[in-house]
Order: sequence, then structure tokens, then C-alpha cells
Amino acid sequence: MTVIAIDGPAGSGKSTLARNLARAFGFVFLDTGAMYRALALAAQRAGIPPNDEPRLTQLAQQIEIYFVAEGDTQRVLLNGEDVSEAIRTPEISDLASRISVYPGVRRAMVALQRALASRADGVVAEGRDTTTVVFPEAIVKIYLDASPQERARRRQQQLQQQGIDEPYEKVLQEILERDARDLARADSPLRIAPDALVVQNDGWTKEQTFEHVLNLCRQRIGTTEVR
Ligand code: C5P
Repeated sequence: MTVIAIDGPAGSGKSTLARNLARAFGFVFLDTGAMYRALALAAQRAGIPPNDEPRLTQLAQQIEIYFVAEGDTQRVLLNGEDVSEAIRTPEISDLASRISVYPGVRRAMVALQRALASRADGVVAEGRDTTTVVFPEAIVKIYLDASPQERARRRQQQLQQQGIDEPYEKVLQEILERDARDLARADSPLRIAPDALVVQNDGWTKEQTFEHVLNLCRQRIGTTEVR
């Protein structure tokens, strides 16, 4: 199995990049953040508070999360229900970053991520620990980054497109809080893997980021054969 792994902070453009790379190489796109979000949604619905580590761990061990392709996109299914939109709210973003600190939760999610990947010939995975913990053997490792201000601007635009209006200052604050939690947690914090290529994409369009990383991947994978 060939793995391209991309990590980086919230709003750095990992999902768009990973989706486009997966399409270019004909690989499966593994959005690990969506999985933590789906777990957060399940916990919220079950009324499990974010500090109840034992119940959250149990939930993570029992949950069924998978992806189904739909045209150019893919849907996230939680116990068979399409939750693709429901997991994209600021509230679920916040909850996902709170419950992802627990080692038991992470172990269960990593096992699920590896199981999903094992069925594919090629995978583009993105998240916070895909280069360091989930797929340390990845052939290409990218650490995608941008300043908090740029990431907040992008996130605000994304929310607007979903019909959610949030002031810039609030989005920035949420980004900074999520960064702090992702960087500070004891288990699998967001780190630059020693063999990762760092891509700082402030001021770049999505297309520029894609072209740049596509070239890096082609050099590493040693093929120009992309679809
Ligand atoms: O990437 P996304 O914003 O969808 O991720 C939601 C949250 O899930 C992140 O803020 C992070 O705390 C958590 N996460 C994680 N490990 C991953 C992916 C996401 O802890 N591999």
C-alpha cells in the first residue's frame, strides 16, 4: 500500500489538498478529522460529556465510521447515517478537538483508520498524526502550514459558504484554541515528523498548493502517471 500522509493545523487546507491528490493518483482519501468529528457528534447525541473519558473510549471502540464516494466528493457515514454536513459546525469542531486528547479514543480511531486504509492500494491521509503515528511508513509526508490569520480567513469563508456567519475575531480565537489543544496534548500531539516536507502556503491559492505538493509527490513516488 502506498500512503501519502499530510498533517497540519486547522485551516491549512489539508482536506482540499488531500482530496485533489487522491483524485490525481487514484488513491482513497482518508479524512481522519472527519472521523474524530463523527465521534464527537455521536457523543453529543448520546449525551456523553466531553470529560467522560471511559464512556468516550467505549463509544470509540464501538462506533462504525466509513466513507462512501459520491461523484467528486465523499460522504461520511456514522453507523450508516450520512453525517457529512452535521459534523462541519463550529460546535462539533470544538468538541472533536476536546475528545481527541484521550489515549483510548485515539487508539480506537487509529485502528479504524489503519483498517480502512488496508483495503486500498493507495491512500492519501490527512489529520494531525497521520505522518507520525498512523502511517509512519508513508512514502510522502507533508506538513502543511499557514499563519493563524490566514487560516482564520479561510475558515471564515468556508463557514460563510455553509451559511454560517461568524466574526473573524471569533474564528481566529477558535483556531488558536484548537492549535493550542492539538499541540499540547500528551498523546500524539501535532508535530512535524523528522522526514516530513514542510509546505507553508500563506498567500497561495488551493491550486498552487496542489501543484506544488503534486510535484513533490511525483518526485518521491517516481511517476508522472497521474489521472
Ligand atoms: O481536521 P479537522 O478540523 O476536521 O479535525 C477536527 C479535530 O479532530 C482537530 O481539531 C483535532 O483535535 C482532531 N484530530 C486529531 N487527529 C487527527 C485528526 C483530527 O486529533 N488525525
